[in-house]
Amino acid sequence: MEAGDDTATWQRARQVGRGLRAWMAAALDLVMPPRCMACGVEVDRTGALCAACWQRISFIAAPHCACCGLPFDYDSGGKDALCGACIAKPPRFDRCRSVFAYDEATRPLILGFKHGDRTENAPGLAQWLARAGGELLRDVDLIVPVPLHRWRLFRRRFNQSALLAAHLGRLSGRVVAPDLLVRRRATARQGGLTRKGRARNVAGAFTPHPAHAGQIKGARILLIDDVFTTGATVGECARVLRRAGAVRVDVLTLARVVKPVAMQAVEAESAP
Ligand SMILES: [Zn+2]
Ligand SMILES: [Zn+2]
Repeated sequence: MEAGDDTATWQRARQVGRGLRAWMAAALDLVMPPRCMACGVEVDRTGALCAACWQRISFIAAPHCACCGLPFDYDSGGKDALCGACIAKPPRFDRCRSVFAYDEATRPLILGFKHGDRTENAPGLAQWLARAGGELLRDVDLIVPVPLHRWRLFRRRFNQSALLAAHLGRLSGRVVAPDLLVRRRATARQGGLTRKGRARNVAGAFTPHPAHAGQIKGARILLIDDVFTTGATVGECARVLRRAGAVRVDVLTLARVVKPVAMQAVEAESAP
């Protein structure tokens, strides 16, 4: 067979594959109608929100801290303004951006996804990540999910951050390195810990995977996690990556704790 024939056959096969996928998606919608990503009522397409949830979600937009992405109540000095916490103690990562505030409206969305009963939301959530992290995705070499310890991975069957990272890689055309970091010890859950306690709990918990450590030197890395609470976990990952030679470490998460009240809620939920 000529090389040209080969290409034509391949293209036809891809067209058939695409057609088949679209047909299967339509068939699946008939059997299992698409549901709102947050509350579960029927909506017109997969990966959408119902109108009520859409209105309740606080999407994070400018003005916000140039470093950690904390939203500001009012514009206090342009694009480079920093929040008090970042001025007092600069985080180990370069920039963090998040899609929405972690609150009453987004809690079911995050928990449903994390505990595995709403994994069909992954492509829709990754689209939101791509939008919120557009600026970060422009200068990144590797997308890296925050790893789970293998016991927790075994119990939960999947790592929600790795699933988001895989879809984000597909959307952005960036390379995903799912095993770049390893969680070498099972940390206690962060629930109920103070800011300092959280940092101590994750200290030394991560290490580069020996087989992939060579990829880190000189790389610009984008870490993916589901919720940013105090930044202890992603801060520790960033520290390890920088020590291994990463030139930039940015962070992109779905949710972000903005108010202390919401943080108490995260703690209550993540308690064992
Ligand atoms: Zn809804
Ligand atoms: Zn900040």
